[in-house]
Amino acid sequence: MAAAVLLIGPALADDCANPEALGTARTLEVDPAAFGRIGTMQYRQTLPLAPKEVVLTFDDGPMPPMTTKVLEVLRSECIKATFFLVGRNAKSHPAVVRQIALDGHTVANHTQNHPLTHMGYGYSVQEFDAGFRTIAEALAPDGARPAPFARFPGLFNVSAVEQQLNARGVSVFSADFLADDWLRIPPNQILARALARLEQKGFGILLLHDVQPGTALILPKLIQELKARGYRIVHMVPASGKTVAIAAAEPASKPAAPAPAKPTAAKPAARKPAPVAADTATVEFSFVTRWRKYYEEQQKAAAKNSPKIEYFNVADR
Ligand SMILES: [Zn+2]
Repeated sequence: MAAAVLLIGPALADDCANPEALGTARTLEVDPAAFGRIGTMQYRQTLPLAPKEVVLTFDDGPMPPMTTKVLEVLRSECIKATFFLVGRNAKSHPAVVRQIALDGHTVANHTQNHPLTHMGYGYSVQEFDAGFRTIAEALAPDGARPAPFARFPGLFNVSAVEQQLNARGVSVFSADFLADDWLRIPPNQILARALARLEQKGFGILLLHDVQPGTALILPKLIQELKARGYRIVHMVPASGKTVAIAAAEPASKPAAPAPAKPTAAKPAARKPAPVAADTATVEFSFVTRWRKYYEEQQKAAAKNSPKIEYFNVADR
């Protein structure tokens, strides 16, 4: 397993103009053939990180001005992260997609049409194909390509689709911990939860949302805390030569261009991909149902191991 992951070093510190920056300690090459499913929130394995090593991931963008603010903070701290983009947002803001790649971050796929409040339809692999296609179109002027990395909206993984993605050479990412920044909680709570969960686990992949104003707000403070506590940033990139084949758009009648993305709720029915392939499962649950179960499990585990960790009760949402 370890042979599939190469370490590139030393860090990018030489290029960093800010002597106080946290920086990026190392780059980790990820081979989807060896790491098909990553992140201990849902899977058995995560990235081979050392204690105190953190991978930052940002979901749901690009969405200026929040994404732009996040990019500014990361740039000033010489930190490289991974952005799981929503295709329809990428289509609305291609310049931001290009900026993410030009800044040296990894650009990954979070499906084409990601409902932001309620999940109620089956994901087909075509949703990921469309996401890769849209992101690739945005990156094309610079000759850049999306990484073969994907994450299900809401982490609503569907095993049949996971298998199809793995067969196409795409790694499916969960995460190791959240900061609950997609819930309407005060920014200081986002910070507190991110740090508490990181301290509990000691290393791992943190899932944040660059579309959330609170996240952009606390990011400088989060980085400051990571620095003070001795954490190091690891940038994950695809193993050399690993790319994803971009499937051509379906030749059938071209659907109307999607409406400009809004950070607010959209009717799931309006974004229902059709048709769902017969070999894909259908997920029928809401964010609240799914995450209440997750947090209940976490609370039980926390009660056994670390009573000091207070996990958020999704029922409060
Ligand atoms: Zn998302």
